[in-house]
Amino acid sequence: VKDGGRGSFAFFQAEMDRDLRRRRALEREVRMAPGRGELSLAWQPQAETGTGEITGFDALLRWRHPERGDVPPDVFISVAEASGAIIPIGHWVLRTACLEAASWPRPLRVAVNVSALQVQQPDFPAQVARVLAETGLEAVRLDLEITETLLIHDTERALETLRALKALGLRLSLDDFGTGYSSLGTLRAFPFDKLKIDRSFVRQMTEDGPCGGMVRAILGLSRAMALPVVAEGVETEAQRALLGAALCEEMQGYLIGRPQPIEAFDELVGRSEAA
Ligand code: C2E
Ligand code: CA
Ligand code: CA
Repeated sequence: VKDGGRGSFAFFQAEMDRDLRRRRALEREVRMAPGRGELSLAWQPQAETGTGEITGFDALLRWRHPERGDVPPDVFISVAEASGAIIPIGHWVLRTACLEAASWPRPLRVAVNVSALQVQQPDFPAQVARVLAETGLEAVRLDLEITETLLIHDTERALETLRALKALGLRLSLDDFGTGYSSLGTLRAFPFDKLKIDRSFVRQMTEDGPCGGMVRAILGLSRAMALPVVAEGVETEAQRALLGAALCEEMQGYLIGRPQPIEAFDELVGRSEAA
């Protein structure tokens, strides 16, 4: 936009109209994605920091649109949350992930990301119970990753829901720790089994600045509460070494493995003979 003035206003107006139309189209299309078979899961390994032993996999949602191609999860998940489409989509993810994990010869854990909107459905614990029964996955192998947005709105109800989920025998992880409002108090008040340090901290940990100290503080605090920690986004050996020295229990990141279709991990899940 070189002419400035009214020309550029018209340009921005057109741009905004286009963004809005694009968002509406995305909203419509993301709603239809499960029925059209456009969704899939990418699996990312989680490992013990000390030994490198794989403990389980994080199931990450992928959407391949026939014309748009791969739409980034950060984009389409927020669109699906705004429209409510995340509820059926999240159900698809839970079911598909549990079904897949139930088929592995090795009893590794499966972590499923659940949106706050999904967890707030009054029958969510009953839905999870049904999926476990139908897929035959042992509850102890399921790890639900929940962000703190769930906890800040209706604390009482959130607590009740989390207790009902725990009663099924599964594990609860507090996701993206450090990016929002959760505090020591949050951790004490809710029945989490694990805490995931957001990758923004891990990324800056090896640089000068406060992140290294913050990660060590989070690890100290979680140790005091006997809560194991998973560090997200571990990309370098230097990061792994620092996390190991600070006694971080588990890690996830490109250093261990990128998210890939489950076939890439046949051997890890114990299916090597099938090939
Ligand atoms: P998240 O739960 O923090 O998941 C980890 C994200 O970090 C993934 O991005 C993963 O690909 C990326 N990642 C993992 N290791 C590394 C690394 O070493 N370096 C870097 N730079 N990135 C790494 P992805 O798959 O794009 O997912 C983005 C977010 O979308 C997830 O963040 C999660 O919040 C959300 N999401 C993904 N699948 C689902 C789902 O099924 N349901 C819901 N509600 N949210 C989901
Ligand atoms: Ca997660
Ligand atoms: Ca994160």
